[in-house]
Amino acid sequence: MATTLPNALTDISTIREIENADLVPLYAKRDVALVRGAGATLWDSDGKEYLDCMSAYGAAILGHAHPAVTEAIIRQAQTLTTCHQSFYNDQRAQYLQLLMRHTPPGITRAFFCNSGTESVEAALKFARAVTGRQHLVATRRAYHGRTMGSLAVTGDNKYREAYAPMYGAVTHVNYGDPDSLAAITDETAALIVEPIQGEGGIHPAPDGYLAAARAACDAHGALLILDEVQTAFRTGAIFRATAENVAPDIIAVSKAVANGLPMGLTLMTEAVATRVPPGTHGNTFGGNPLVCAAATATLSTIIGDGLLERSKEVGDHFVAALRDLNHPMIRDIRGRGLMIGVELKTKVTPVLRRMQEAGLLALPAGGLIIRFLPPLIFTKADADRAVSLFTQALERGRGLRS
Ligand SMILES: *Cc1c(COP(=O)(O)O)cnc(C)c1O
Repeated sequence: MATTLPNALTDISTIREIENADLVPLYAKRDVALVRGAGATLWDSDGKEYLDCMSAYGAAILGHAHPAVTEAIIRQAQTLTTCHQSFYNDQRAQYLQLLMRHTPPGITRAFFCNSGTESVEAALKFARAVTGRQHLVATRRAYHGRTMGSLAVTGDNKYREAYAPMYGAVTHVNYGDPDSLAAITDETAALIVEPIQGEGGIHPAPDGYLAAARAACDAHGALLILDEVQTAFRTGAIFRATAENVAPDIIAVSKAVANGLPMGLTLMTEAVATRVPPGTHGNTFGGNPLVCAAATATLSTIIGDGLLERSKEVGDHFVAALRDLNHPMIRDIRGRGLMIGVELKTKVTPVLRRMQEAGLLALPAGGLIIRFLPPLIFTKADADRAVSLFTQALERGRGLRS
């Protein structure tokens, strides 16, 4: 009666061949098969080691295979993995109890889903249902996801044009410009905005911008939706809303929330939650006990191990080390905590490839920006090593070393 499992795939050429033949070719692939991780270290199928400054696009916030999260997953997998929200569940309630101690003032209710785009989708639907209005204001360069609603508020045409026509009632305005908030009118359901634009190139909101956004929404009875899918847990605070002292009506959260297991959360005020018409939204997997157990372990560890304070210190150290380079290829360095962007004067793709060869993994954010999203367990020594490997990759690009 023993079940026969397929043999493990161990070499990059087989793995590459299968993925290239069987997948919809949507992604520009990086030619490495990552097969194992521990903390801020990843290994490929050849056993080569990498320092991880991408955390799987910010998802692995505590690093890979964190013992507390792994233990919670194993325990819950042996108990109950799935439970629809039409039933109560102990793990879901436990996570909510912990989470609500850390939400910004006024944010008292949660909707569970499974990804960032879903958390945004729910936010947009709720804003429409609650206000009875259709018009949405969003920002240029914004990234909110790839399903039809979140795509309509995403700012970059390259993601949208193949799927036009989009949901029509959206006005895109310049990010960070208080004057552009005049686009919010008495017909507007909501303004959706990232407190730091992530995919768009690590652009933190200028001082006063989010307060101006709150005031403009209040003046017209529109809701303020903060998309914290990328910023939550990463900038030295659980929520950027708390750090910036802004009171959104709705917050979209996902990436880091369960250390890499798929979870999305749409958080909101009592006033919004009590006006969402019952039965008008839902899903199958949201708030399942497995991801809730992982999310509880993730948030408990972040708080218990003092990782917010520490990540802020390490982030400041990382940025200072980058600034000290005073490198002629660097145009600008931006960020908060461990969400760091380095704008280059040249295209980033070849630099990212040389970084990968040198054993350092980071991300692009647009064509000119290298994005570092290391896990919160990153040390100052890790940051120094990352900066040193990054410098090597930059230098080799200039032909100073070969
Ligand atoms: C990644 C991201 C999303 C989309 O999340 P997915 O889980 O990829 O759907 C939405 N908003 C922001 C700010 C993001 O960074």
